[in-house]
Amino acid sequence: MTRLIFLGAPGAGKGTQAKLIANLCSIPHVSTGDILRTAVTNQASLGLQAKLYMDRGDLVPDQLVVALIQERLKNHDAQEGWILDGFPRNVAQAEFLDSLLNEIDQPCDYVVNLDVPDDILVQRMLERGRTDDTEEVIRNRLKVYREQTSPLIDFYSKRKKLAIVNGDQLMDGVTDDLKKLIQR
Ligand code: AMP
Repeated sequence: MTRLIFLGAPGAGKGTQAKLIANLCSIPHVSTGDILRTAVTNQASLGLQAKLYMDRGDLVPDQLVVALIQERLKNHDAQEGWILDGFPRNVAQAEFLDSLLNEIDQPCDYVVNLDVPDDILVQRMLERGRTDDTEEVIRNRLKVYREQTSPLIDFYSKRKKLAIVNGDQLMDGVTDDLKKLIQR
């Protein structure tokens, strides 16, 4: 049974790696960003509420993502493990997740921090060309990451859950390091 939380700045490659490892373990890849983007495309009420924040590179309000994760983790397919990608993004979400995982008795194995230097992050985001990847929005997403998400490194380190993986290497190298981690 594998349960992992992927942290890492935007552009660190967590989406790509989270998908790969989820496929490998036959468990769902739960990306709040993907779920929100689908809701925006479908013009679902969740999407309409989230779009303005996403377009600016700000976090969408906690109550929206928290409700979404709660529902997703109680789904049948998530009972054999999961990979969370993009959640939690701040301390309030991490505290919520802690109590949710306790309640459903699904402790996570590791919180993976994919570590990548800032200049490489900006370069990678500009290359992927997503609609929310303009330079101004990228700069804001990095600022939001630094202010709100990076404190989670300390949060999980104190809980002895943190695993740091070097994200500044060829894709296969990162995947190999992650495989070693989950085989521990
Ligand atoms: P991502 O694909 O993870 O980079 O997420 C894209 C955008 O969705 C972010 O810039 C946020 O606006 C929003 N988002 C994704 N996950 C969360 C979250 N856990 N909390 C708040 N906003 C989120």
